[in-house]
Amino acid sequence: MASDLVTGLQCRLCGKRYPKEALNFCTEDFGPLEVTYDYEAVARTLTRRAIAARPRTMWRYRELLPLDGEPTVGRHVGCTPLIRADRLAKALGVRELYLKNDAVNHPSLSFKDRVVAVALSKAVELGFRTVGCASTGNLAGSVAANAAAAGLEAYVLIPDGLEQGKVLGATIYGATVIAVEGNYDHVNRLCSQIAFRYGWGFVNVNLRPFYAEGSKSMGFEIAEDLGWRAPDHVVAPMAGGSLIGKIHKAFRELDQLGLLEAPARTRMFGAQATGCNPIAAAVKTGASKVRPIRRPETIAKSLAIGDPADGYFASRMLRESGGWSEDVDDDAIVEGMTLLAETEGIWAETAGGVTVAVARKLIEQGRIDRDGSTVLCITGNGLKTQEALIDRLARPAVIEPTLDAFESLVEGSRTNIKVETAALAAV
Ligand SMILES: *Cc1c(COP(=O)(O)O)cnc(C)c1O
Ligand SMILES: [Zn+2]
Repeated sequence: MASDLVTGLQCRLCGKRYPKEALNFCTEDFGPLEVTYDYEAVARTLTRRAIAARPRTMWRYRELLPLDGEPTVGRHVGCTPLIRADRLAKALGVRELYLKNDAVNHPSLSFKDRVVAVALSKAVELGFRTVGCASTGNLAGSVAANAAAAGLEAYVLIPDGLEQGKVLGATIYGATVIAVEGNYDHVNRLCSQIAFRYGWGFVNVNLRPFYAEGSKSMGFEIAEDLGWRAPDHVVAPMAGGSLIGKIHKAFRELDQLGLLEAPARTRMFGAQATGCNPIAAAVKTGASKVRPIRRPETIAKSLAIGDPADGYFASRMLRESGGWSEDVDDDAIVEGMTLLAETEGIWAETAGGVTVAVARKLIEQGRIDRDGSTVLCITGNGLKTQEALIDRLARPAVIEPTLDAFESLVEGSRTNIKVETAALAAV
């Protein structure tokens, strides 16, 4: 049944149509290809009632994901928590704030499991046995983990110098992990050559149109969990600029299918690190082209793509939605990480710090209005970027195992130590 819903691929620049194959750019103008659907047919089966009756995974929206059959890889991915974040809201000075927490996505603790589940299921449909990716870190772990579980052979290429948690978090699954001298853009170019030479399925190269569609599931889940409403604002981190565009597309699709309570008018806000801000710079200067950053330099390594594949479309979409983009430096990123942890108990990776710090900046600038509803997309887990914090957080005090030692430590360092009588009575 699903095979009739996905009608093919289409060039985003010239509109030329292509069949459902492992192809990522238009042969006429090198424009990116996007999956097209028969929305009338989708509307016949994708109803709120049908969705509610399905398991809580990203596949409950399967009519809007580009597979011809049932998913075979990543069947448990998605439906991460949407959390009302009142303590962080208070700190940022907004009324209604939510966190979409993909730091706990299954199985590899980042939003990349969504795109990989689609790309590898599609790879199996197309008959690939060997898959791969060009990664800034999280994609590496997700491709390696999901390929292992599906019995596919995986080649994972990363820039030299990634965080240890990202490297180990790919190697453990038995993938062939290769560190390339240079930055992500070098890795990506090499992967295009490898995919072409060996005929393998690279999730974000020749399978990219299918891969990218997986990100829509984040938007579908946000709207469903808000009671079938699109929020007033979304802040999401940007690397290649794909995720943010797909969240926006998700709200538009739900709207078009009549699944929302009110028209989707979400203003989209893109977050980058100052050390690699090609999309934010284009939005802020109004440039029609995205100027690549030659040497990205930021602790937010997962976002360090100097020449973003979807930068042009992302920057246009951000402005057209009434949103904006900002960037923050490494100190602000760490402050964002600690603020999120201390107010909401969520340890996000550096990209999460970028999102929180950019949200704060946009609220202070008045670009995000304090009375609207705002969703911050937390896309990766802090356990994987420990290097960013190791020299910036206090180490634990070491004491002798005596009450005296404890008392002189805490009473010496804090003035508000209280003996709590309620607890004493219970002891
Ligand atoms: C890949 C990634 C993103 C953004 O991805 P896009 O390339 O813009 O789709 C955001 N956050 C994290 C943690 C990532 O790994
Ligand atoms: Zn074209």
